[in-house]
Amino acid sequence: MDIGYCKGVGNKRADTLRKELNVVTALDMLTTVLPYKYTDRSKFYKIHEIVDEDTAVQIIGEVTEWHIVGVGKGQRLSATFTDGSHIIELVWFRGIQYVKLAKGVKYLLFGKPSRFNHQYNFVHPELTPMSKVTPQMMEGLEPDYNTTEGMKRIGLNSKGIRTIMASLLPEVRKGVPETIGQDILDKYHLMGRRDAILNIHFPPDTATMQKARERMKFEELFYIQLHILRQMKRRENNEGFMMPKVGWRFNRFYKELLPFELTNAQKRVIREIQGDMKSGKQMNRLLQGDVGSGKTLVALLCALLAVDNGYQACIMAPTEILANQHYATLQELLRPKDGGEPVAQVALLTGSTTQKQRGPLHEDLRAGRIHILIGTHALIEDDVQFGNLGLVIVDEQHRFGVAQRAKLWAKNVRPPHVLVMTATPIPRTLAMTVYGDLKTSILDELPPGRKPVTTLHYNIQRKASVNRFITEQISQGRQVYVVFPLIKENKELELADLQNGYNELCETFPQYRISMVHGQMKAKDKDEQMQHFVNGETQILVATTVIEVGVNVPNASVMIIENAERFGLSQLHQLRGRVGRGADQSYCLLMTKMELSKETRQRIEVMVATNDGFRIAEADLQLRGPGDLEGTQQSGLPFDLHIASLVTDGQILDIARNAAKDILDADPQLEDQYNQMYKRRLDILRQTTTYFGEIS
Ligand code: ADP
Ligand code: MG
Repeated sequence: MDIGYCKGVGNKRADTLRKELNVVTALDMLTTVLPYKYTDRSKFYKIHEIVDEDTAVQIIGEVTEWHIVGVGKGQRLSATFTDGSHIIELVWFRGIQYVKLAKGVKYLLFGKPSRFNHQYNFVHPELTPMSKVTPQMMEGLEPDYNTTEGMKRIGLNSKGIRTIMASLLPEVRKGVPETIGQDILDKYHLMGRRDAILNIHFPPDTATMQKARERMKFEELFYIQLHILRQMKRRENNEGFMMPKVGWRFNRFYKELLPFELTNAQKRVIREIQGDMKSGKQMNRLLQGDVGSGKTLVALLCALLAVDNGYQACIMAPTEILANQHYATLQELLRPKDGGEPVAQVALLTGSTTQKQRGPLHEDLRAGRIHILIGTHALIEDDVQFGNLGLVIVDEQHRFGVAQRAKLWAKNVRPPHVLVMTATPIPRTLAMTVYGDLKTSILDELPPGRKPVTTLHYNIQRKASVNRFITEQISQGRQVYVVFPLIKENKELELADLQNGYNELCETFPQYRISMVHGQMKAKDKDEQMQHFVNGETQILVATTVIEVGVNVPNASVMIIENAERFGLSQLHQLRGRVGRGADQSYCLLMTKMELSKETRQRIEVMVATNDGFRIAEADLQLRGPGDLEGTQQSGLPFDLHIASLVTDGQILDIARNAAKDILDADPQLEDQYNQMYKRRLDILRQTTTYFGEIS
């Protein structure tokens, strides 16, 4: 039933519910607008038992006297309430004329105590004469709902929602369609859907409430897993290009040109990828490896495998700086030291590639004369056509939108193999939901000889000692990054910050040369400034977060992050990953203002305590919640979560995944009669989810 037709709702409220909460039907309301906490209405307090400002309490008692205090706008109604042994003040600031009080009447008072002048009082309590109190009002747990400003304005505060929910329940009692099979309900001891809905809104006791919530969480996570795993099964059947051969390019590079021994992790990961590439099925693999673990080399070796088998490969990077760097690195690596022909032909295509350069480049690409194309999202444009694209590699894939990545799929008659790489470590629960349809390889080993980066926290008053440290490091031949935050809403301010910082450094260090890069610069200038730093001609690089991902200058050993309080954890970790890439001891200095919020302080503490990207990702998830995790908004969850939490419900997620797996192992495409319910439900979820995209 449309929510607008429900008792007490009407058009205006229905409109708001749809806009603010994506609620269209009564069942949407019941299953997606869920209490965030409950108040125990079976418990009665005495006034002297109040100890906490946050919990609503109920007290039975009488009003002994009241009067209006003040005049005009500052007017308030003050009453004295007693439970027989103690007294407490009740206060109303608004709607005074509607408050009807009487002496000698027993009231049920319900409200949240507040503290004023070292004493508790109640502001705007609910006061119901005992003669009007229904038995239901005094039993069970009363739900509280989150609302928005817009909803409050039309009476849809927590109480308003509660009233609507209560009026919907008689319909629910008659029954609602079940969405999970009886066998699963039995196996995992889950509540049926009808009972879960009834009890999640108005539970008689805590144990029942928890069972109801568990069932609703399970349902959400189960359908996400069912969707993801079904997609994975479907892909397993995608025909893929056969690349069984290890040819001369791979071998020559590996034996003659590779400047160092691969780490064991790199070897293992390459074997895993190679296994996919020769399987005859299309590869969809995620390569996770902390910053500095050597993903570029893995990408190059896999690209050479594709080329050896007669296919082309492309590597897409999120920034021009990174694409340029990959291009330079690969060219350098592939060129024999005696100056002969490179092992493979590499080309670069970015937004700065001129129209004039594009003509011949497009032609070489179609003719197969270019083996590996490196670029930014310029690669996905329609007029970029490959002769025979066999492998797509997406670097720092969390920086790309889903649609952008999907476009690369269509660059050959059959989808090419896809390898996406990310340095943002992903907590386990997110990996299972956001990337649950990809096979995963993990580079869990850094190249030998790396020393962990030492991270220190300084407040701005200690600038002088930081400057001394810079001098000391540069005099030992090292280079230094100084990064300023990027403020999206205010580009002028950001540039002013950066420019000031630059000027200040120039004044402080007249003896050094300093490069500067930021997002607003022309690509050519950016490249030139980067190049000076890469070549060691400048000692300091002042930058915004354009250098956040991927940049590799092993001689740089100091990363100074100004206004570190403005960065998120994974950003800080990425930035820190720019140093510690050579054999020297490296340092990351987090500069902040003096006063820090609790959350910021925790973030800084985590950074100082650990270099482990996975621990940082878990901490990030705990501190900020999954919706907010950098890089995950874009790839997104397949369906919205209303109650399950990726922070706290890891266990239910495991169970839900197993349940989904059991179903799909027996019936990969949900064709059995018995599984039609699941199939239909997935279709509905797909149509009603605010965001839905295929992840690859
Ligand atoms: P990321 O995984 O962050 O993309 P990179 O691919 O940029 O890391 O590699 C970081 C640095 O480590 C580069 O300078 C690279 O040449 C070097 N490197 C990669 N693999 C090895 C290895 N097996 N032994 C030594 N150095 C390596
Ligand atoms: Mg990289």
